[in-house]
Amino acid sequence: MAEISKARMPDRGASIPGRQGVTAETRPRRHETAQCSRRTKILLKNVHDLMDAPTAGWQTSALMSAALPPPGVNAFTIAVLPGDGIGPEVVAASLDVLRATEARLHGVRFDLETHAVGAGEYQKNGDPLPSPAVAAMRRADAILLGAMGLPDVRWPNGVEMTPQIDIREQLDLYNGVRPIRLYHPSHTPLKGFGGAGAPIDFVIVRENCEGLFSDRLTPRAAGRDFETDTLRITRRGAERICRAAFRLARSRRRHCTLVDKANVLPSMAFFRRVFDDVAREFPDVRSERVYVDAMALFLVQRPHEFDVLVTENMFGDILSDLGAGLVGGMGLAPSADLGDEHGLFQPAHGTAPTLAGRGIANPIATILSVALMLDWLDHPETRRGARLIEHAVATTLADPAHRTADLGGNLGTKAMTTRVIEALHQSPA
Ligand code: ATP
Repeated sequence: MAEISKARMPDRGASIPGRQGVTAETRPRRHETAQCSRRTKILLKNVHDLMDAPTAGWQTSALMSAALPPPGVNAFTIAVLPGDGIGPEVVAASLDVLRATEARLHGVRFDLETHAVGAGEYQKNGDPLPSPAVAAMRRADAILLGAMGLPDVRWPNGVEMTPQIDIREQLDLYNGVRPIRLYHPSHTPLKGFGGAGAPIDFVIVRENCEGLFSDRLTPRAAGRDFETDTLRITRRGAERICRAAFRLARSRRRHCTLVDKANVLPSMAFFRRVFDDVAREFPDVRSERVYVDAMALFLVQRPHEFDVLVTENMFGDILSDLGAGLVGGMGLAPSADLGDEHGLFQPAHGTAPTLAGRGIANPIATILSVALMLDWLDHPETRRGARLIEHAVATTLADPAHRTADLGGNLGTKAMTTRVIEALHQSPA
């Protein structure tokens, strides 16, 4: 069970691109820098407050103690973005699980700041991604997102608004980590997998900031009778995503597969050359290359043979849904969008508008995304919290009575969340 995020997530010291050369021994750990910057921010705020307040020693200490966490407690600020569709429902469920986990942990606290983003926000205020919300995301220690966008809310050129892609680019969250794991044999449409059959347990590492999506906001001339989209791969972008994938593979089963279309597209042939260069830095990891069309076939025929798949932005988008379909659907697929500075965690699914407001969405993908977030925060207690959540989810899903509608059951969002929290209370410490 522990593999779902710890083994799948990059080792914080060794594998986060941009941190090379900073050893696990010498680098400040995330929870230390987070705590340091949090205290600095609070102190600055308090200095500001004190400039308006009558000067008195007791007021100073009262102000300080009101804002600072007690000594020995690490406070993490989480920017919470419920968004549109089923986003608010699954985020609320995951926050209940986060609070139940917090109660099991020692010396950590989660301070939640909620911000409105998405198509609903656009309808109210004309901007799906207001700059104060982006600023809050930059300040936060981690970001938890539900889903954004609504089918009927579109830009004048007809495309849906995609603030989730904009956030990845603005915060340079280039490393899209999408774990695909089968929890119960009855969840997969494939025969012979899970239980006594072959396991399904792989991770798609999706390049998030380049590829075929990167050109989408480029202004286009009106009235043309053709349109083009550019698939952009840079050496820097390809190197850092390939390194992230190899490091992740090194922490798992040491097998990294590039998914490309190098037989047709020059951009993909270039991506393959960079992948081969990076592969030489990881002689202990088995590397291979598979064309994306063949990979669509292989993932259905023999998904258990793959460990880490690294690919271009849109291929990763498509294969993520295929992967989720192999293990029970979008309601079971968590994700992390990681940069060198920021981490955003969200279910791999979208807003599922047909389910919104009905209380029937599966909250597991978002709950598992919270576990990924706790791993990434990299405090011994948050990592323990991640293990607690994973164990609770696995225990819950092992019982065939615990199924939401997407899995053929009749539990609603709240009932499923309650089952997970009950299992969490019983998880070994
Ligand atoms: P969007 O346009 O925001 O991507 P969508 O409905 O087109 O929304 P998804 O939200 O990814 O795409 O949903 C794909 C399918 O998976 C839909 O049938 C949806 O009902 C289902 N689905 C997605 N999330 C969940 C969930 N949490 N629980 C149950 N079913 C889900």
